[in-house]
Amino acid sequence: MPKHEMTWNLYDLVPKGGFDTLYAEIEADLAKYPAHYAACDPGMAPERFAEVIRFNEAVREKLNRLDGFADLSTSADLRDQRAKLLKSRCDDLQVKCVDAALPLRHWIKGLAAEGKQRLGDAAAARLFAGVPGLRYVLEYLRLSARHTLTQGEERIVTRKLISGAGALGELYDQICDGFVYDFRPRGRKPRRLATQEDVLRYIRSASASEREAAYRCLLSPYREHLGKLFTCYVALVKDWDNDAKLRSFASPIARRNFYNKVPDAAVEALLAVTADNAGLYQEFFRLKARLLKMKKLRRYDIYAPSGAPGPTLPLAEGVELVLDAFGGFAPGFAERARRIIAARHVDSHPRPGKRTGAFCAGIAPAVTPYVLLNYSGDSNAVSTLAHELGHGVHDLYAAAQSISAYGTPLPLAETASTLAEMVVFERLLARCRTDAARRALLLEKIGESYGTVMRQSYIVRFELEAHRRIAAGTTEDGLSRLWLELLREQFGGAVEVAEEFGSEWAYIPHIFKTPFYCYAYNFGELLSLSLYARYRQDGPRFVPRIEAILAAGSSRAPEDVLREAGIDLCSPSFWQGSFDVIGGWLAELKRLGRRGA
Ligand SMILES: [Zn+2]
Repeated sequence: MPKHEMTWNLYDLVPKGGFDTLYAEIEADLAKYPAHYAACDPGMAPERFAEVIRFNEAVREKLNRLDGFADLSTSADLRDQRAKLLKSRCDDLQVKCVDAALPLRHWIKGLAAEGKQRLGDAAAARLFAGVPGLRYVLEYLRLSARHTLTQGEERIVTRKLISGAGALGELYDQICDGFVYDFRPRGRKPRRLATQEDVLRYIRSASASEREAAYRCLLSPYREHLGKLFTCYVALVKDWDNDAKLRSFASPIARRNFYNKVPDAAVEALLAVTADNAGLYQEFFRLKARLLKMKKLRRYDIYAPSGAPGPTLPLAEGVELVLDAFGGFAPGFAERARRIIAARHVDSHPRPGKRTGAFCAGIAPAVTPYVLLNYSGDSNAVSTLAHELGHGVHDLYAAAQSISAYGTPLPLAETASTLAEMVVFERLLARCRTDAARRALLLEKIGESYGTVMRQSYIVRFELEAHRRIAAGTTEDGLSRLWLELLREQFGGAVEVAEEFGSEWAYIPHIFKTPFYCYAYNFGELLSLSLYARYRQDGPRFVPRIEAILAAGSSRAPEDVLREAGIDLCSPSFWQGSFDVIGGWLAELKRLGRRGA
């Protein structure tokens, strides 16, 4: 068990000093593509087709290891110039790999390719039978034919991606990573906070003036640099939307939905039902104001703790608690999480220069996933630990799939992580000895679920409208006004929103780098709630159903995988069912509130 700070061992990706060797090996592999491509023919033996596919997968695994090494090295120290150089070399190699595999992908999609007989449906079905684990992946590739450009155009797009959208995303990071935060709580000495994590800790402070000061200093550099950030955003939005149009998607969000492998109707049902339930959180915020003995909450206060802060857990204890809760839910969860820690694949604590936030990187089925945290020891940090280990657990369940079916489609990608948080939450709740402690935890949980469900859904609603307005012409102030309008709509008068929150949109990296991504959190949280509700009802015999969803990776359509667990994604009543779980927490909170706050 880790006693102190953990740092990760990246040499499981690429052996020490082996970067250049692996790089050269991939370059040599690229020269073998033409021979494989030459063998492709509708009449070829399925075994030979399988060999082509496995070759392509082997190259991808090597590239993922190399790129993962460069990427994780950069995340561990954003100022490490050597790591940045490795990353940029990987980007170049990535382009070469995409180029080399392009004719093959085109041919599999059934598109016209010079000197080749087109691959028809019947012949495709015969060849795909040679790689049974990848049938859905390959069929989906054929579906994407209608969103594919010509080979020449795809080549241009791949190159422009790195110098265009990719570079703008990096520029966004660089602008924001350079921010310093001047923290000025009323009546106290002002001080400069070095990292965003330091600032975010104060939005959960027990002191109202510290919370206000935290948001002020968090948003102020974004407001100051809003012009630059707006320029990045407009270019990225136009890039995304132009691409969507060129690829014949019905709308910008339809492009994301297609990549996510979810029907537009499921996302529409999700967003609509979520907006219908805005009143649930408004009621929560009114109740929270009463419990905090405030007339009305301000936007600064929505993450305010109730009562004394819970105990801070050193990393070792946090890990123990999470593993124990996982074990009580499903031994397979605990065992897999333990494997990640034992492999020394966790970078645990904040440091200057380290990437903020937290993530889990699943590189390849044969590689134990890597987890980056900025662990502080509060209950939120314990939740994040559970969340990211949950991602890793998911990846390890899917590790029996080959690399093309290993990554989970985005809406399912948050399933194990949010489920893991839920399990840890129940454990923490069960450990509470007093009503006050239960109340504090429920307040925190519903508040967090606001952040994952309602807030994310409104971020996507903002994007839907922002993409429309940018196409028609708008300004940074126009976007800030839109953001404020939507904030006021979701809080419906239950929370007072100060004007300065207008520039908050610029603080959300996802809308810059992965448009419409945020509904995945909403999707994942509600899906996990419903799975967890089923688990509570059916007991441990429901666990294998959950494990089957995780183990499927992306080898099958999410809709089909979920249908087997009794879930219909396009049904509003399914989504409403998850809100009933949140409603149950709220009812419990009200009951505790009546017993004396
Ligand atoms: Zn996540």
